[in-house]
Amino acid sequence: MQSFVNGLGEKPYRAKQLLQWLYRHGVTDFDAMTDLSKASRAKLKSAACVDLPEIQFDRTASDGTRKWLFRLADGNSIETVFIPEGARGTLCVSSQVGCALDCSFCATARQGFNRNLTSDEIIAQVWLANSLLADAAGSDDPKDSADQTTAAPSRNRVTNVVMMGMGEPLLNLKALIPALDIMLDDLCFGLSKRKVTVSTSGVIPAMDKLYAEIDCSLAVSLHAPNDELRNELVPINIKYPIADLMAACRRYIDGDRKKHVFFEYVLLAGVNDQPQHARELIALLKDMPAKVNLIPFNPFPASGYTRSDEVAINRFWKILTNAGVLTLRRATRGDDIDAACGQLAGDIEDRSRRHRKFSEPRFGETTDRPAAIPIEFIR
Ligand code: SAH
Repeated sequence: MQSFVNGLGEKPYRAKQLLQWLYRHGVTDFDAMTDLSKASRAKLKSAACVDLPEIQFDRTASDGTRKWLFRLADGNSIETVFIPEGARGTLCVSSQVGCALDCSFCATARQGFNRNLTSDEIIAQVWLANSLLADAAGSDDPKDSADQTTAAPSRNRVTNVVMMGMGEPLLNLKALIPALDIMLDDLCFGLSKRKVTVSTSGVIPAMDKLYAEIDCSLAVSLHAPNDELRNELVPINIKYPIADLMAACRRYIDGDRKKHVFFEYVLLAGVNDQPQHARELIALLKDMPAKVNLIPFNPFPASGYTRSDEVAINRFWKILTNAGVLTLRRATRGDDIDAACGQLAGDIEDRSRRHRKFSEPRFGETTDRPAAIPIEFIR
């Protein structure tokens, strides 16, 4: 921003003012930036415009979870989900259009991969969410909004970000880092580093780069306690196996007593939810400052998996907890609008091209894995 304002021949402090208007106040109209001189506003208007993705749909689930489909300039669409929970308002942000990884239990994977998001497309999700949440609070029936501000303040704004939407954020580090910077910077969204979490399936070199470049929380999609099973569920494990992944997690924490890694573990009935898996997981996490999030599997058509039942989930939770592993059961949110983990599938503008692309076998692939499922079945 500083080099941009320099280029316009403006004073360096304009950069700070612009960032605050854009991100803190959510103002995109240069004429409304009242502490800029008329001449500066005119210069800005001739040099720049603020462009946002279009809101293609906006739906709220019965539990208050809200899902947006944002349409990008190239016609692709991405999904962003807001999850209000007491004082916390968590935004689940996408990092790619589709996903290049092939986790066997994830709807986004079935859709295939189109492209990386740019930094502005990532940060626009946070900007739009805050703006739409504020609009909803303002335009509500007075009774409701009184209720919202007292009972559930988080309904109006994003307090936490999880990079757990569509895509693998660590395969898009170049765009991710500047977007995280804007989330964390006090002049912009000013979120605390503990409240911004990057989730990865375990792209080890990028975990080290993330550590070197920015301070934020890390979540790892583990899902299996041994390589044999993880190779099947999260195929990137073939390249970056569990022992190396655990070493990378330790490097990320870097001996900092206040830090820990969140491990996500989706429970698939009869696949990874047995007591022996829980015991293997305990051994794996020994001496690791870790929090385990148990996620009930969210089904989608032709996934081939079923959700573990309550008995299995509780048994798994109990084994870990009794061994002193801090374990939370993540509630399923927004599943009536397909906004739950693994159900985000965006929408396809250029459907035929993508469909053709992902129904062809990939290089070296001889298996008869299912072709991309047409989007109507996922939605
Ligand atoms: N690619 C990154 C970011 C996506 S995060 C990662 O893998 O971490 C989305 C989380 O939801 C991941 O932990 C993912 O494994 C999990 N998930 C995917 N499909 C799911 C499903 N059908 N049910 C429950 N969780 C799922």
